[in-house]
Amino acid sequence: MSSPEPDREPSWAWDERRWRGGVEKVRAGRSLRPARWKDGARVCVALSFDSDHESSTLRDGSVSPGRLSQGQYGARAAVPRILALLRRHGIRASFFVPAVVALLHPDEQRRVIDEGHELGMHGWIHEMTSQLTAPVERDLMRRAHETLAKIAGRPPVGVRVPSWDFSPTTLGLIRELGLLYDSSLMADDEPYELLEDGAPTGIVELPVEWIKDDAPYLGMNRASTIRPYTAPSAVLEIFRAEFDGAVAESGLFLLTMHPHIIGHRSRIAVLEQLVEHMRGVDGVWFATHEEVARYCLAHAEGQPTPSATAR
Ligand SMILES: [Zn+2]
Repeated sequence: MSSPEPDREPSWAWDERRWRGGVEKVRAGRSLRPARWKDGARVCVALSFDSDHESSTLRDGSVSPGRLSQGQYGARAAVPRILALLRRHGIRASFFVPAVVALLHPDEQRRVIDEGHELGMHGWIHEMTSQLTAPVERDLMRRAHETLAKIAGRPPVGVRVPSWDFSPTTLGLIRELGLLYDSSLMADDEPYELLEDGAPTGIVELPVEWIKDDAPYLGMNRASTIRPYTAPSAVLEIFRAEFDGAVAESGLFLLTMHPHIIGHRSRIAVLEQLVEHMRGVDGVWFATHEEVARYCLAHAEGQPTPSATAR
């Protein structure tokens, strides 16, 4: 197996088998939105923090102390602030952690777990999955799984692929590892079952979106064109509208944040205001991704899995 683009043949020359096969490799199957959320809740909220810390610098092959310090801020200043906020509001969340970050900050991961949160996989060193050969992707995923299991004392059950860069071989590896869910794809607002080559896999997808992510609005990298372009108050407005929409549809509100981005004083205030807004609504179920995935699998309405090959 080689990288996902084995030749340079232009797409307009592909035969139907090739373009259809590419589309159907990994696809959204039946909806797993339950008829009712736990205890009759109106809406489900799943907050996630991707603790990238130093790995977004290391991933690029850089050991720049300047850039690494931006990541260390995530561990040193931001995670304690986030954990305090979650504790204050009695909310449990999911933390997706690259294995190298878990090895750099094992005490942080144990603290996250001790406070009732979930630890999920987020690659080895925040590698770009689609640039890897299949054997390298498998090796990194297995090592990441083992590393988190050792530090957490329990194997992780879910993965968020770094940068949501899901490759055509990622789903096969998720199945090999026997994971419960992925949270890297974007085909719906609500949980769904993943299909591989048209066949149901039993793997739950908890979908993400760049709209519901702090990084596109607030990220900063001096060496690239990534700049904050939205005021924290405007980010709050967008996140709140997404949550209000989820309430109106009795759906899922899943939010991705990064400690080194959301953990700053002017921004953690936005998260605090968002949480206060959500807690002001009756019937909100705050849950970890693992809890949401298990609940959805157990309570999904029984519509048949759409078959990609039957038409
Ligand atoms: Zn990340």
